[in-house]
Amino acid sequence: MMKFQIFFLALLISTTISAQNKYGLRTTSLEEYLASVKSNPEKELVDLEKFVPGLVLDIRYATANNFTKEKIYNLAKAYARLPVAEGLKGAQEELKKEGLGIKIFDGYRPYKATVRFYEVYKDTTYVASPYRGSRHNRGCALDITLIDLKTGAELKMPTEYDSFKKEAWPRTPVSDPVVRANRAKLIAVMEKNGFRVNSSEWWHFDFKGWKNYEVLDIDFEELESIK
Ligand SMILES: [Zn+2]
Repeated sequence: MMKFQIFFLALLISTTISAQNKYGLRTTSLEEYLASVKSNPEKELVDLEKFVPGLVLDIRYATANNFTKEKIYNLAKAYARLPVAEGLKGAQEELKKEGLGIKIFDGYRPYKATVRFYEVYKDTTYVASPYRGSRHNRGCALDITLIDLKTGAELKMPTEYDSFKKEAWPRTPVSDPVVRANRAKLIAVMEKNGFRVNSSEWWHFDFKGWKNYEVLDIDFEELESIK
């Protein structure tokens, strides 16, 4: 009897370990994250809806309206590390002067969501490799677009969010001058505030200091519970 129990316990442990390290990447635990925030307040994942006045949320992965056709998040929330949130706030303030604002599709993304994306769509041009993780997992990437502040309508861009077409690449020429100007405006305001646009997604912006932040796998519910 004892032998069986040990066998099943060993099986359970090995299954758990292999699930955590399936792609050989170690993620920071909740405890380690909290300790890192204590020693460096810039590591905090900030609630962007509260931090950036007027920010509009359209968290696609909290719905089935995304490329996986699955609801990935239980809560429609957007978080980013403190300096990333400050950069976004700066961009929002600048745009406001022109009657424009920012709509966010995704911010910090738990590592397990990146693994799921990769399992659904294995092209790492568009989906981050689970062997390295995404800059979203570090709380240092934002997926956004521009909106008209009065109407809330999205400004016309070259493609829909999460399009896997070459038209989504920020360097692909655009014939429509309005679309071209909208894309250029979004990229310019974000680059001015410390971000760099992704080479295959006009909506994705990496914070320049992303290397200084660890890959996290903390759920939104956990983040809400530690407030
Ligand atoms: Zn992204």
